[in-house]
Amino acid sequence: MKTKISLFLVTALFCLSAVSSGSKATAQQSANPSAGAAADLVLTNGRVWLGGGSSLFAEAVAIRGNQIVRVGRAVEVKQLIDERTRVIDLGGKLAAPGFNDAHIHFLSGSLGLSEIDLTGAASVAEMIERIAAYARKNPGKQWITGRGWVYSPFPGGLPTKTYLDAVIKDRPVFLRAYDGHSGWANSRALQLAGITRDTKFDGYGEIVRNASGEPTGALKEGAQALVSRLIPEPAREQKLDALRQGMKMAASLGVTSIQNAGGSPEELSLYEELLKRGELTMRVSMAFPAGARTTPQEIDRFVALKNQYGLDPQTQTMLRAGSVKFVLDGVIESHTAAMIERYSDLPPNHGAPYGELAIPADIYGDLVARFDKAGFQIYTHAIGDRAAREALKAYEDALNVNKRSNARHRLEHIEVISPEDIPRFVKLGVMASMQPIHADPGTADVWSRAVGVERLKYAFAWQSLLSRGVRLVYSSDWPAAISVDPIRGLHCAVNRRGIDGQSPGDWPRGWVAEQRVSIGDALRAYTQAGAYSSFEEAIKGRIAPGMLADIVVFSQDLFKIDPMRIHETRVALTVFDGKVIYQDGV
Ligand SMILES: [Zn+2]
Repeated sequence: MKTKISLFLVTALFCLSAVSSGSKATAQQSANPSAGAAADLVLTNGRVWLGGGSSLFAEAVAIRGNQIVRVGRAVEVKQLIDERTRVIDLGGKLAAPGFNDAHIHFLSGSLGLSEIDLTGAASVAEMIERIAAYARKNPGKQWITGRGWVYSPFPGGLPTKTYLDAVIKDRPVFLRAYDGHSGWANSRALQLAGITRDTKFDGYGEIVRNASGEPTGALKEGAQALVSRLIPEPAREQKLDALRQGMKMAASLGVTSIQNAGGSPEELSLYEELLKRGELTMRVSMAFPAGARTTPQEIDRFVALKNQYGLDPQTQTMLRAGSVKFVLDGVIESHTAAMIERYSDLPPNHGAPYGELAIPADIYGDLVARFDKAGFQIYTHAIGDRAAREALKAYEDALNVNKRSNARHRLEHIEVISPEDIPRFVKLGVMASMQPIHADPGTADVWSRAVGVERLKYAFAWQSLLSRGVRLVYSSDWPAAISVDPIRGLHCAVNRRGIDGQSPGDWPRGWVAEQRVSIGDALRAYTQAGAYSSFEEAIKGRIAPGMLADIVVFSQDLFKIDPMRIHETRVALTVFDGKVIYQDGV
């Protein structure tokens, strides 16, 4: 009997080590996740969406340490409750694996949380009111910065310094447009930057001037840097504070994992510091920026960091750094995304009617092969169908040369795709990393005109990709998108209509409605697929014994409500690493 027990324990230990997080946190776990010892936390009387497997829902989940130890009917899980167990009654609410935001710029988004947010300000008066209020509240801020203004409220479509000077004279102000392509400065900022009527700017962009040649305070594209380079870099403590604020928001939205698309070694060190202080409340996977100017020294540094925070989920569950990100083209709206056929709304004599690649294809291909050989996972920003085609070709060439399987390379955004290229994703094992909120119908009109009716069928082609077996992973691209909230993403994914129910022009059922996905598929793309993307599908992304205890509970049942009400859903509870990090309504 004794022998039998110890054999059982050895087997259990072995099984556990194959799925456990393996971090120091696992020391608190007992040997066998399904053994009879009491749970630390039980969520019961809920509708627990498991995210995979044959039985789709359970009623209850038991958690010990940072790990899920039992999932099943409430009566089954009850056996693990003793007087020390914290029990949370979900009252029939829906629970799911914690969200994994697979493409986000978390530090810049978090830093923006303490700046002026002009998102949604529909008039100049409203913007000025927000700006003045912020300046009053932050008397010690040397620079007043922010973003989010839109062009339409300004006469002539661009803001001027006069509006700002009327409320802030003594301190420099610099505010970026919602799309990041233009900036708005006051006179003090222009003065500090030395921008006068005599200043020449030869780069890509413009110092906007009035009829008499005076700079107006609007700066386009690269000209923004004349001012923005003067803004002091936030101190490390400030960045850590911003991340704390960002993590608090993430917790309130049920986000328990992120994949940072374009972080830096310095940013990684910030997360590491938070981890050491026991403050990190999300799992972070980092992609380093790579491009034509990447130096051999940088590559060496990335390799060293990849080895330190490698792709082995047995050793590390909190921080990973095994990816690099390329930007291969621009965006559709400004006709800089690389297209196979001409843009539909450009005049016949336009100089770049197909957009263009941001990196010459041969240089990009060489770098891809190099990073692939070094064992990196590669993300490539590819918005136009030509960029997607070039990226798939580079991945295919790398596979042929390096023979590396299971690299899980990704294409980012894929706003339009040639149907011929869709089967190549599966053949090459490439993931489609997409942001449902980018397809918010609010922005669809300009986009649709540029792409034209022919190609529109494959606009944000989630369903075409999914139905061909492509692994689709969802994310926010915050702060490049208006919202980091995965619920907003789910709403767009399922409806392709705005939260007001509106759909642009000729699309009463939703914008290119045949590309809508089911709520189950959308949730999978925000959970399980994210875990797969960071090579961690054995430890997270589903609710099952042995998985890390990262769970979100919703205010309403996403599977049962009218899909047009998805956006009203709130997070009621977030459990991260076995601990409740947010609770409101259960
Ligand atoms: Zn991005």
